[in-house]
Amino acid sequence: MEQTLVLLKPCTLQRGLVGEIINRFEKKGLRLAGMKMMQLTDSILNEHYAHLSEKPFFQMLKDSMMSTPVIACCLEGIDAVRVVRAMTGATNGRNADPGTIRGDYCVSNQQNIVHASDSLETAAVELARFFKPEEIFDYTPSNRNYLYALDEH
Ligand code: UDP
Ligand code: MG
Repeated sequence: MEQTLVLLKPCTLQRGLVGEIINRFEKKGLRLAGMKMMQLTDSILNEHYAHLSEKPFFQMLKDSMMSTPVIACCLEGIDAVRVVRAMTGATNGRNADPGTIRGDYCVSNQQNIVHASDSLETAAVELARFFKPEEIFDYTPSNRNYLYALDEH
């Protein structure tokens, strides 16, 4: 099983879409292993978006991410990193395919509903950035054998 980080961005809270977005991941069959509301800070965003620090929109992106709390989720499943990225869609909501979260819920390159980890390595680093170990919970979904075949791990 893989675990990946999803952040529900301030636009999602402001637009009242939190339940709908979490519902998509639940319906897909991903296990919610952790979830919490957090006020992000400049220092955590400098780490989280370090790959964008030279971009002209960096400060605007950070300000936007600090404008309300966000909701951090740890989602688990087989190939969860790739599955969640595919559900998320292209960065710019105007380019994201219909059927993806960004394709269905936004029209922006920045106000794009969710952050999702882009690789297994990134997911491990990002989960450690946003969650303490005791905030990630291990439990067996009662429908496990109906989500996956017995030989799928
Ligand atoms: N972003 C932006 N302007 C851009 C490109 C990206 O404001 O031209 C923001 C957008 O919110 C995006 C985030 O920066 O989700 C992180 O960018 P990244 O390239 O990592 O895209 P993602 O992995 O979120 O699809
Ligand atoms: Mg990214």
